[in-house]
Amino acid sequence: MKKLGLFLLMINFLLTNACNNTVQKSARVMPEGQTPKNIILLIGDGMGLAQVSTSFYFNDEKSNFLRFKEIGLHQNTPIGAKITDSAAGATAFSAGVKSYNGAIGVDQDTQAVETILEILSQKGLSTGVVSTSSITHATPASFYAHVRSRRMQEQIARELMDSDVDFFAGGGIKFFNKRKDGEDLIKGLELKGFTVDTAKLAKRGMSINNKYAFLLGQDYMPKMEDGRGDFLPKATNLALDYLSQDPKGFFLMVEGSQIDWGGHANDANYIIEEMKDFDKTIGEALDFAKKDGNTLVVVTADHETGGFALSSAKVRKQDDYRGLAPTFSTGGHTAALIPVFAYGPGSERFKGIYQNQEIFGKMLAGDGAAN
Ligand code: MG
Ligand code: ZN
Repeated sequence: MKKLGLFLLMINFLLTNACNNTVQKSARVMPEGQTPKNIILLIGDGMGLAQVSTSFYFNDEKSNFLRFKEIGLHQNTPIGAKITDSAAGATAFSAGVKSYNGAIGVDQDTQAVETILEILSQKGLSTGVVSTSSITHATPASFYAHVRSRRMQEQIARELMDSDVDFFAGGGIKFFNKRKDGEDLIKGLELKGFTVDTAKLAKRGMSINNKYAFLLGQDYMPKMEDGRGDFLPKATNLALDYLSQDPKGFFLMVEGSQIDWGGHANDANYIIEEMKDFDKTIGEALDFAKKDGNTLVVVTADHETGGFALSSAKVRKQDDYRGLAPTFSTGGHTAALIPVFAYGPGSERFKGIYQNQEIFGKMLAGDGAAN
Protein backbone atom coordinates (compact mmCIF):
# COMPACT_ATOMS: atom_id res chain seq x y z
CA MET A 1 0.00 0.00 0.00
CA LYS A 2 2.80 2.35 1.00
CA LYS A 3 4.60 1.70 -2.29
CA LEU A 4 1.43 2.26 -4.27
CA GLY A 5 0.89 5.48 -2.36
CA LEU A 6 4.38 6.69 -3.16
CA PHE A 7 3.93 5.69 -6.78
CA LEU A 8 0.67 7.62 -7.01
CA LEU A 9 2.30 10.58 -5.31
CA MET A 10 5.06 10.55 -7.95
CA ILE A 11 2.57 10.27 -10.80
CA ASN A 12 0.64 13.09 -9.24
CA PHE A 13 3.84 15.15 -8.95
CA LEU A 14 4.70 14.53 -12.59
CA LEU A 15 1.19 15.34 -13.75
CA THR A 16 1.02 18.48 -11.66
CA ASN A 17 4.31 19.73 -13.04
CA ALA A 18 3.31 18.82 -16.56
CA CYS A 19 0.09 20.75 -16.06
CA ASN A 20 1.88 23.69 -14.54
CA ASN A 21 4.12 23.89 -17.58
CA THR A 22 1.12 23.85 -19.88
CA VAL A 23 -0.66 26.47 -17.82
CA GLN A 24 2.36 28.74 -17.80
CA LYS A 25 2.93 28.26 -21.50
CA SER A 26 -0.66 28.94 -22.44
CA ALA A 27 -0.75 31.73 -19.88
CA ARG A 28 1.79 33.61 -21.92
CA VAL A 29 -0.46 33.32 -24.95
CA MET A 30 -3.65 33.96 -22.96
CA PRO A 31 -2.89 36.33 -20.09
CA GLU A 32 -6.57 36.08 -19.03
CA GLY A 33 -5.70 32.72 -17.45
CA GLN A 34 -3.45 34.29 -14.87
CA THR A 35 -4.07 35.39 -11.35
CA PRO A 36 -4.56 39.13 -11.51
CA LYS A 37 -2.34 41.42 -9.47
CA ASN A 38 -5.29 43.64 -8.53
CA ILE A 39 -8.97 42.86 -7.99
CA ILE A 40 -11.82 45.37 -8.15
CA LEU A 41 -15.23 43.98 -7.14
CA LEU A 42 -18.16 46.30 -7.84
CA ILE A 43 -21.47 45.32 -6.25
CA GLY A 44 -24.70 46.97 -7.35
CA ASP A 45 -26.94 46.15 -4.41
CA GLY A 46 -30.32 44.96 -5.71
CA MET A 47 -29.16 45.15 -9.34
CA GLY A 48 -30.96 42.58 -11.46
CA LEU A 49 -30.94 42.46 -15.25
CA ALA A 50 -33.77 45.01 -15.58
CA GLN A 51 -31.81 47.45 -13.40
CA VAL A 52 -28.74 46.88 -15.61
CA SER A 53 -30.96 47.39 -18.67
CA THR A 54 -31.88 50.92 -17.54
CA SER A 55 -28.32 51.85 -18.58
CA PHE A 56 -29.34 50.99 -22.15
CA TYR A 57 -32.68 52.83 -22.21
CA PHE A 58 -32.31 55.83 -19.91
CA ASN A 59 -28.63 56.68 -20.20
CA ASP A 60 -27.47 59.36 -22.67
CA GLU A 61 -23.94 58.00 -22.63
CA LYS A 62 -22.86 54.61 -23.95
CA SER A 63 -23.11 52.09 -21.14
CA ASN A 64 -19.87 50.79 -19.66
CA PHE A 65 -21.50 47.36 -19.38
CA LEU A 66 -20.84 47.10 -23.15
CA ARG A 67 -17.11 46.81 -22.40
CA PHE A 68 -17.45 43.36 -20.81
CA LYS A 69 -16.87 40.21 -22.88
CA GLU A 70 -17.12 37.59 -20.12
CA ILE A 71 -20.59 37.29 -18.61
CA GLY A 72 -22.18 34.71 -16.32
CA LEU A 73 -25.07 34.23 -13.92
CA HIS A 74 -25.11 33.37 -10.24
CA GLN A 75 -27.79 31.85 -8.03
CA ASN A 76 -27.92 33.42 -4.59
CA THR A 77 -30.12 31.17 -2.41
CA PRO A 78 -28.95 31.52 1.23
CA ILE A 79 -29.14 29.00 4.08
CA GLY A 80 -32.63 28.70 5.53
CA ALA A 81 -34.54 30.77 2.95
CA LYS A 82 -35.38 31.01 -0.74
CA ILE A 83 -34.47 34.70 -1.05
CA THR A 84 -31.25 36.29 0.17
CA ASP A 85 -30.62 39.56 1.97
CA SER A 86 -27.52 41.69 1.39
CA ALA A 87 -25.63 40.27 4.37
CA ALA A 88 -25.76 36.61 3.31
CA GLY A 89 -25.32 37.75 -0.29
CA ALA A 90 -22.13 39.71 0.39
CA THR A 91 -20.76 37.08 2.79
CA ALA A 92 -21.03 34.53 -0.03
CA PHE A 93 -18.78 36.75 -2.20
CA SER A 94 -16.41 37.80 0.58
CA ALA A 95 -15.91 34.49 2.38
CA GLY A 96 -16.98 31.82 -0.12
CA VAL A 97 -19.69 30.33 2.10
CA LYS A 98 -23.47 30.19 2.02
CA SER A 99 -24.85 31.61 5.25
CA TYR A 100 -28.14 32.78 6.75
CA ASN A 101 -29.82 36.13 6.14
CA GLY A 102 -28.26 38.74 8.41
CA ALA A 103 -24.85 37.00 8.62
CA ILE A 104 -21.82 39.30 8.34
CA GLY A 105 -18.60 37.39 7.56
CA VAL A 106 -19.78 34.35 9.53
CA ASP A 107 -20.94 30.89 8.46
CA GLN A 108 -24.27 29.28 9.28
CA ASP A 109 -22.98 28.44 12.80
CA THR A 110 -22.02 32.11 13.36
CA GLN A 111 -18.32 31.19 13.16
CA ALA A 112 -16.08 33.86 11.63
CA VAL A 113 -14.88 32.99 8.11
CA GLU A 114 -11.78 34.63 6.66
CA THR A 115 -12.67 37.06 3.88
CA ILE A 116 -10.93 37.70 0.56
CA LEU A 117 -9.96 41.14 1.87
CA GLU A 118 -8.28 39.59 4.91
CA ILE A 119 -6.58 36.83 2.90
CA LEU A 120 -5.10 39.27 0.39
CA SER A 121 -4.14 41.77 3.09
CA GLN A 122 -2.19 39.04 4.86
CA LYS A 123 -0.37 38.40 1.57
CA GLY A 124 0.75 42.01 1.69
CA LEU A 125 -1.77 43.59 -0.69
CA SER A 126 -3.49 46.88 0.12
CA THR A 127 -7.26 46.94 0.54
CA GLY A 128 -10.14 49.37 0.18
CA VAL A 129 -13.91 49.54 0.68
CA VAL A 130 -16.21 52.21 -0.78
CA SER A 131 -20.00 52.47 -0.54
CA THR A 132 -22.89 54.93 -0.82
CA SER A 133 -24.51 53.53 2.33
CA SER A 134 -22.98 53.66 5.78
CA ILE A 135 -19.59 51.96 5.51
CA THR A 136 -20.82 49.69 8.34
CA HIS A 137 -23.86 48.54 6.30
CA ALA A 138 -24.29 44.84 5.42
CA THR A 139 -22.52 44.76 2.05
CA PRO A 140 -19.24 46.52 2.90
CA ALA A 141 -19.22 45.08 6.45
CA SER A 142 -19.17 41.52 5.12
CA PHE A 143 -15.65 42.12 3.76
CA TYR A 144 -13.98 43.15 7.03
CA ALA A 145 -16.27 42.27 9.98
CA HIS A 146 -17.52 39.07 11.61
CA VAL A 147 -20.76 39.49 13.54
CA ARG A 148 -23.87 37.36 13.83
CA SER A 149 -26.25 40.16 12.81
CA ARG A 150 -26.08 43.03 10.33
CA ARG A 151 -27.88 45.19 12.89
CA MET A 152 -24.74 45.39 15.08
CA GLN A 153 -23.41 48.44 13.26
CA GLU A 154 -21.59 49.92 16.28
CA GLN A 155 -19.70 46.65 16.73
CA ILE A 156 -19.05 46.58 12.97
CA ALA A 157 -17.57 50.11 13.19
CA ARG A 158 -15.19 48.87 15.90
CA GLU A 159 -14.18 45.91 13.75
CA LEU A 160 -13.52 48.25 10.81
CA MET A 161 -11.22 50.29 13.03
CA ASP A 162 -9.30 47.12 13.95
CA SER A 163 -9.47 45.59 10.45
CA ASP A 164 -7.02 45.16 7.56
CA VAL A 165 -8.76 47.89 5.52
CA ASP A 166 -6.33 50.60 4.39
CA PHE A 167 -8.78 52.93 2.65
CA PHE A 168 -12.49 53.45 3.08
CA ALA A 169 -15.08 55.97 1.96
CA GLY A 170 -18.81 56.15 2.64
CA GLY A 171 -21.33 57.26 5.25
CA GLY A 172 -21.78 56.23 8.87
CA ILE A 173 -20.14 58.84 11.12
CA LYS A 174 -22.73 58.25 13.86
CA PHE A 175 -21.67 54.62 14.31
CA PHE A 176 -18.22 55.93 15.23
CA ASN A 177 -18.95 58.94 17.41
CA LYS A 178 -22.57 58.77 18.63
CA ARG A 179 -22.34 55.36 20.19
CA LYS A 180 -24.17 53.74 23.09
CA ASP A 181 -20.81 53.03 24.76
CA GLY A 182 -19.91 56.73 24.45
CA GLU A 183 -16.56 56.00 22.83
CA ASP A 184 -15.17 58.16 20.05
CA LEU A 185 -13.95 55.81 17.36
CA ILE A 186 -13.03 58.70 15.07
CA LYS A 187 -10.22 59.29 17.56
CA GLY A 188 -9.76 55.54 17.66
CA LEU A 189 -9.25 55.44 13.89
CA GLU A 190 -6.61 58.16 14.18
CA LEU A 191 -4.83 56.21 16.91
CA LYS A 192 -4.79 53.24 14.53
CA GLY A 193 -3.00 55.36 11.94
CA PHE A 194 -5.89 56.56 9.80
CA THR A 195 -6.06 60.04 8.40
CA VAL A 196 -9.77 60.73 8.91
CA ASP A 197 -11.84 63.28 6.98
CA THR A 198 -15.54 63.80 7.77
CA ALA A 199 -16.00 66.71 5.35
CA LYS A 200 -14.69 65.82 1.90
CA LEU A 201 -12.71 63.41 -0.22
CA ALA A 202 -8.99 64.10 -0.44
CA LYS A 203 -7.31 65.41 -3.53
CA ARG A 204 -4.78 63.08 -5.09
CA GLY A 205 -1.33 62.67 -3.60
CA MET A 206 -2.10 60.27 -0.78
CA SER A 207 0.74 58.09 0.50
CA ILE A 208 0.52 54.29 0.53
CA ASN A 209 2.34 54.43 3.88
CA ASN A 210 -0.75 55.97 5.47
CA LYS A 211 -4.32 54.74 5.89
CA TYR A 212 -7.32 56.88 4.93
CA ALA A 213 -10.90 57.09 6.16
CA PHE A 214 -13.55 59.29 4.53
CA LEU A 215 -16.79 59.33 6.51
CA LEU A 216 -18.99 61.79 4.68
CA GLY A 217 -22.50 61.27 6.07
CA GLN A 218 -24.04 60.72 9.51
CA ASP A 219 -25.66 57.53 8.21
CA TYR A 220 -25.93 56.87 4.46
CA MET A 221 -24.76 59.16 1.66
CA PRO A 222 -27.47 61.28 -0.03
CA LYS A 223 -29.19 59.70 -3.01
CA MET A 224 -28.25 60.94 -6.48
CA GLU A 225 -31.57 62.79 -6.80
CA ASP A 226 -30.69 64.67 -3.59
CA GLY A 227 -27.30 65.80 -4.86
CA ARG A 228 -24.72 63.12 -4.02
CA GLY A 229 -22.89 64.27 -7.14
CA ASP A 230 -19.84 62.32 -8.25
CA PHE A 231 -18.94 60.87 -4.84
CA LEU A 232 -18.89 57.22 -5.97
CA PRO A 233 -16.82 57.51 -9.19
CA LYS A 234 -14.55 60.04 -7.49
CA ALA A 235 -14.00 57.93 -4.35
CA THR A 236 -13.33 54.91 -6.58
CA ASN A 237 -10.81 56.87 -8.61
CA LEU A 238 -9.16 58.13 -5.43
CA ALA A 239 -9.01 54.60 -3.99
CA LEU A 240 -7.36 53.35 -7.20
CA ASP A 241 -4.88 56.23 -7.17
CA TYR A 242 -3.93 55.28 -3.61
CA LEU A 243 -4.07 51.47 -3.77
CA SER A 244 -2.18 51.18 -7.08
CA GLN A 245 0.91 52.54 -5.35
CA ASP A 246 1.26 49.13 -3.67
CA PRO A 247 3.74 47.07 -5.75
CA LYS A 248 2.15 43.85 -4.42
CA GLY A 249 -1.32 44.75 -5.68
CA PHE A 250 -4.68 45.48 -4.09
CA PHE A 251 -8.27 44.41 -3.46
CA LEU A 252 -11.01 47.03 -3.73
CA MET A 253 -14.74 46.55 -3.13
CA VAL A 254 -17.06 49.30 -4.36
CA GLU A 255 -20.79 49.23 -3.69
CA GLY A 256 -23.59 51.12 -5.42
CA SER A 257 -25.73 50.62 -2.31
CA GLN A 258 -28.85 52.54 -3.19
CA ILE A 259 -29.93 50.75 -6.37
CA ASP A 260 -31.49 48.40 -3.79
CA TRP A 261 -33.22 51.25 -1.97
CA GLY A 262 -34.81 52.47 -5.20
CA GLY A 263 -36.17 48.95 -5.62
CA HIS A 264 -37.54 48.82 -2.07
CA ALA A 265 -39.19 52.20 -2.64
CA ASN A 266 -40.61 51.01 -6.01
CA ASP A 267 -39.17 54.21 -7.41
CA ALA A 268 -37.94 53.77 -11.01
CA ASN A 269 -36.24 57.17 -11.19
CA TYR A 270 -34.30 56.43 -8.00
CA ILE A 271 -33.01 53.23 -9.65
CA ILE A 272 -32.24 54.94 -12.96
CA GLU A 273 -30.19 57.73 -11.34
CA GLU A 274 -28.31 55.30 -9.06
CA MET A 275 -27.58 53.07 -12.07
CA LYS A 276 -26.17 56.01 -14.07
CA ASP A 277 -23.82 56.71 -11.17
CA PHE A 278 -22.84 53.05 -10.84
CA ASP A 279 -22.27 52.79 -14.61
CA LYS A 280 -19.92 55.78 -14.44
CA THR A 281 -18.10 54.13 -11.53
CA ILE A 282 -17.68 50.93 -13.55
CA GLY A 283 -16.13 53.13 -16.25
CA GLU A 284 -13.53 54.40 -13.76
CA ALA A 285 -12.64 50.83 -12.77
CA LEU A 286 -12.42 49.66 -16.38
CA ASP A 287 -10.31 52.64 -17.46
CA PHE A 288 -7.86 51.83 -14.68
CA ALA A 289 -7.85 48.09 -15.51
CA LYS A 290 -7.32 48.73 -19.22
CA LYS A 291 -4.33 50.96 -18.56
CA ASP A 292 -2.92 48.67 -15.86
CA GLY A 293 -3.32 45.40 -17.77
CA ASN A 294 -3.14 43.20 -14.66
CA THR A 295 -6.40 44.03 -12.91
CA LEU A 296 -9.51 41.86 -12.72
CA VAL A 297 -12.80 43.80 -12.61
CA VAL A 298 -15.94 41.93 -11.52
CA VAL A 299 -19.36 43.59 -11.50
CA THR A 300 -22.35 41.84 -9.99
CA ALA A 301 -25.18 42.19 -7.48
CA ASP A 302 -26.11 40.33 -4.32
CA HIS A 303 -29.76 39.96 -5.44
CA GLU A 304 -32.51 41.72 -7.36
CA THR A 305 -34.85 44.14 -5.57
CA GLY A 306 -38.42 45.12 -6.43
CA GLY A 307 -39.21 42.54 -9.11
CA PHE A 308 -38.39 45.48 -11.34
CA ALA A 309 -39.56 45.26 -14.97
CA LEU A 310 -39.14 47.56 -17.96
CA SER A 311 -42.83 47.21 -18.76
CA SER A 312 -44.55 48.95 -21.63
CA ALA A 313 -46.40 52.21 -21.35
CA LYS A 314 -50.19 52.05 -21.23
CA VAL A 315 -52.70 53.91 -23.35
CA ARG A 316 -56.30 53.46 -22.16
CA LYS A 317 -55.20 50.34 -20.21
CA GLN A 318 -53.73 48.84 -23.41
CA ASP A 319 -50.02 48.06 -23.79
CA ASP A 320 -48.27 50.64 -25.88
CA TYR A 321 -44.97 49.14 -26.96
CA ARG A 322 -43.72 52.50 -28.17
CA GLY A 323 -42.98 53.59 -24.63
CA LEU A 324 -41.66 52.30 -21.30
CA ALA A 325 -43.34 52.59 -17.91
CA PRO A 326 -41.34 50.49 -15.43
CA THR A 327 -43.26 48.43 -12.86
CA PHE A 328 -42.53 46.49 -9.69
CA SER A 329 -43.90 43.22 -8.35
CA THR A 330 -42.71 43.52 -4.73
CA GLY A 331 -41.25 45.89 -2.16
CA GLY A 332 -38.67 43.26 -1.25
CA HIS A 333 -35.95 41.18 -2.88
CA THR A 334 -36.51 38.46 -5.48
CA ALA A 335 -34.83 35.13 -6.24
CA ALA A 336 -33.89 35.93 -9.87
CA LEU A 337 -30.47 34.77 -11.10
CA ILE A 338 -28.00 37.65 -11.14
CA PRO A 339 -25.65 38.70 -13.96
CA VAL A 340 -21.87 38.73 -13.44
CA PHE A 341 -19.62 40.82 -15.70
CA ALA A 342 -15.85 40.28 -15.70
CA TYR A 343 -12.89 41.98 -17.37
CA GLY A 344 -9.15 41.37 -17.28
CA PRO A 345 -6.91 38.45 -16.26
CA GLY A 346 -9.02 35.59 -14.89
CA SER A 347 -12.26 37.00 -16.32
CA GLU A 348 -12.98 33.82 -18.33
CA ARG A 349 -13.63 32.01 -15.03
CA PHE A 350 -16.84 34.00 -14.59
CA LYS A 351 -18.61 32.50 -17.62
CA GLY A 352 -21.42 30.02 -17.00
CA ILE A 353 -24.02 29.57 -14.27
CA TYR A 354 -22.88 28.98 -10.70
CA GLN A 355 -23.60 29.67 -7.02
CA ASN A 356 -22.89 33.11 -5.55
CA GLN A 357 -20.20 31.84 -3.15
CA GLU A 358 -18.15 30.52 -6.11
CA ILE A 359 -17.33 34.11 -7.01
CA PHE A 360 -14.94 34.15 -4.03
CA GLY A 361 -12.88 31.27 -5.49
CA LYS A 362 -13.07 32.62 -9.03
CA MET A 363 -11.53 35.90 -7.85
CA LEU A 364 -8.74 34.12 -5.94
CA ALA A 365 -8.09 31.26 -8.39
CA GLY A 366 -5.51 31.20 -11.16
CA ASP A 367 -2.04 29.89 -11.85
CA GLY A 368 -0.60 31.39 -8.71
CA ALA A 369 1.42 34.11 -10.42
CA ALA A 370 0.56 36.61 -7.70
CA ASN A 371 0.91 34.17 -4.78
MG1 MG B 1 -25.78 46.95 0.41
ZN1 ZN C 1 -32.52 45.32 0.08
